[in-house]
Amino acid sequence: MHEASYLEAYKHCRLCPNLCSVDRTRGQVGICGESAYMRIAWAGLHRGEEPPVTGRYGSGTIFFSGCPLHCAYCQNCQISAQVDISTVTTVTVKQLAQLMLDLQQMKAANINIVTGTHFIPSIAEAILLARRTGLNIPIVWNSSGYEEVQALEMIDSLIDLYLIDVKTLDTRVAARFCGTKHYVDSILPVMTWLFKAKPNTYVNDAGELYGILIRHLLFPGTLEATKEVLVWFARYAKQHAWLSLMVQFVPPKKEPSMETIRIDEYQILLDLLESLEIDDGFVQELADNIPWIPDFTRDNPFPADFADPLASFLALRKVSADNRAGERLPFEN
Ligand code: SF4
Repeated sequence: MHEASYLEAYKHCRLCPNLCSVDRTRGQVGICGESAYMRIAWAGLHRGEEPPVTGRYGSGTIFFSGCPLHCAYCQNCQISAQVDISTVTTVTVKQLAQLMLDLQQMKAANINIVTGTHFIPSIAEAILLARRTGLNIPIVWNSSGYEEVQALEMIDSLIDLYLIDVKTLDTRVAARFCGTKHYVDSILPVMTWLFKAKPNTYVNDAGELYGILIRHLLFPGTLEATKEVLVWFARYAKQHAWLSLMVQFVPPKKEPSMETIRIDEYQILLDLLESLEIDDGFVQELADNIPWIPDFTRDNPFPADFADPLASFLALRKVSADNRAGERLPFEN
């Protein structure tokens, strides 16, 4: 992709289902809250993903600032909505490519792009640049699933594994937990397209997962909606994708009394997985419930056992904090 063409996508931005049509190159922002300045919140090794994604030393995770979806329960709201300026660092395409190479040098199992939907053109350019200069580990697209197929088509050839949510297929649950009932309208076309783009999911000889790993998190009091997702998965997805069923719901600060899963509900889900013959994937243990919320104002937002920050990212972050006025557009070197 050439500079002019990837910038074009920001000029009348329709990169996600919000279809804001704003000119982000002029500093306008849509629902994602981000202009064409590419901003990241953290880069480093993260060991909290599913085993083949975490690998031996950790997944080379890059968290982007902003989000097209504003979920009521978001654990990353510090960087996804009403972004705290102290948590973000503006990077150019070249700097992002270098961070990817530095993560590889740190023995990352992969490059794990977290919530990159609204920066797809710049991220694609950075991956291409990093590949040309020695990046040889897989690329993981880690997203909410609130995507526009045409935007994903811009980056699909560069993606090895989609780590993608199917949050719900129930419009009432979507309205309550995902911030928009339209989540349901967008997720099914995305999945239909993905099953054609990546028809097979497999682990290679090196233990790397390729294809599609669908994540689903049980929301409080929505067991029936989760059953609906599992039935859908068995019918349409299991021949193409693996499943990661998560039960680690962390109540948002403003609603700390939200119920988490009961043991009888957990057993119902395990029984359903068995009866639907869903075999490939992961189910979170009840005991895995670790109630932390990342703090992106810190160099390491996660517990030390789970993550190591990338030194070159921390250096960029320091320069960014010292010189916020020096922010550059993503296409500048
Ligand atoms: S990426 Fe942002 S500006 Fe573009 S359509 Fe989505 S929410 Fe709107």
